[in-house]
Amino acid sequence: MNFSTGKKLFLSHFLAIILVSGSIGSYFYQNAIDNLLGSLQARLKYSAALLSTAVDPSELDQIVSPADKSRESYKKGVAHLRELVASNPDVAFIYVMRRHGAEIHFVLDSDPDTPAEPGEVYAVPVRALLEGFSKAGSDRELFKDKWGTFMSGFAPLSGGGGRYVIGIDMRADEVANKLAALRTTGILSLVFSLFLAFLFSHFLSRSMVKRINALHRRCLEVDTSAGTKSVREGDELDQLAVTFGDMLDRLQRSQTELERRVEQRTNELSLANQQLQAEMKQREKIAQLLEETARTDFLTKLINRRAMHRLLHNEMARVERTGGVFSLVLVDIDHFKDINDQFGHGIGDDVLIALSRAFENSVREQDTVSRWGGEEFLMLLPNTAQADAVEQAERLRQMLDSDAMQIERYRHRVTASFGVCEFAAGDDLEFLLKQADVALYQAKALGRNQVRAAAQTGAPGESPGEAGVTNTHLEQ
Ligand code: GH3
Ligand code: MG
Ligand code: MG
Repeated sequence: MNFSTGKKLFLSHFLAIILVSGSIGSYFYQNAIDNLLGSLQARLKYSAALLSTAVDPSELDQIVSPADKSRESYKKGVAHLRELVASNPDVAFIYVMRRHGAEIHFVLDSDPDTPAEPGEVYAVPVRALLEGFSKAGSDRELFKDKWGTFMSGFAPLSGGGGRYVIGIDMRADEVANKLAALRTTGILSLVFSLFLAFLFSHFLSRSMVKRINALHRRCLEVDTSAGTKSVREGDELDQLAVTFGDMLDRLQRSQTELERRVEQRTNELSLANQQLQAEMKQREKIAQLLEETARTDFLTKLINRRAMHRLLHNEMARVERTGGVFSLVLVDIDHFKDINDQFGHGIGDDVLIALSRAFENSVREQDTVSRWGGEEFLMLLPNTAQADAVEQAERLRQMLDSDAMQIERYRHRVTASFGVCEFAAGDDLEFLLKQADVALYQAKALGRNQVRAAAQTGAPGESPGEAGVTNTHLEQ
């Protein structure tokens, strides 16, 4: 049997409330009945005790048989009992009984319709009645005899020596009426509490089912494929559990897929990164190579004219900024054309290379040798005054002059002419180069294989003349 969640919630709440309220209700109901019976018993007991002095037992000894009904004491006694009954509407009968051995006999009875006869044996003496001969008491429950159903109170007649008991019967109808009123109240409160339990359980289960259904709908909205394999049997909670299960499965699968993709993408990125780094290194190398190529003369591997220009600018700026000095040496190979003509252009190249290495190896570490063009070389000598530069140039000249080069089968003396100049603050590059050129031109003009230095008299824009050049070779 399949109940919906709503029904289950309703029934469980309903039964729980009924159980609790039923237990509490029946406790109070039982308590009320006990209280009612207890108060009746107490009233009967105390009424009987009060009446124990109402009848004089001394006159009762003569009343032993129906024949004694004519006695004055009988009539007086019965009349008195009837008065007492009349004054108490709750009481049905009042009677007096006498113990005779093991038997109980009626003596007086207030019943006007079917009174017990004097001396009549009471066939069903109950415990409360027997105890009533010695002390006041009452029935614990309703009791039935030939006069009807009653609850009775008993007390020993005062002065009766324990032989007489006075009894009061309260009609069961009265007790039953009170019990019925109590039961009606109990039933009404039971119905009311059932109604309340129904309402409470109904609204509670409805609101919970509403939320479960809303959650289920929300899940289906979020994950449209959820619930496709949902079971159709089972209650709303089962459906929700299956939908949740489906969603969790899907989430787990998509998380695994996501992790796999992230890992794959990370690997790809790391590979791309490695490739990029390798490419960047490669490009760096190419850039270095390009820069190297851009600033290097292809044939001699010396820095070229462009790079030397930059170097000169930097050096001029440095000296202008910090003070100091530097010199230039412009070198031109003498009659180089003849070498080409005599040995060919290729050999001419070899000679240029050999001369480059020779110059490079002979200058100081801080000096720079560049190929200025054709068979001309320009040297930058930092922190060098003109006089020292002339000395250096002279050393180079002598080096070439003193040692003939081996060109093919021949020993060939290759000489060069040198023009030297010193940078002075305020000089521009053009003027400086012109000075070196003029000095070189002078060296050539004076017969080659010699060093000429520019005089320090020139000013920017002023063209150095013949007088501005000194021939160190001649001076030696
Ligand atoms: P001078 O003493 O007046 O300087 O005479 P020179 O022959 O050296 O002067 P000129 O300027 O007349 O000739 C320079 C020669 O240098 C001409 C050219 O063929 C040669 N030359 C220039 N560059 C190179 C080169 O890269 N390789 C070779 N082999 N020869 C070159
Ligand atoms: Mg030349
Ligand atoms: Mg030359």
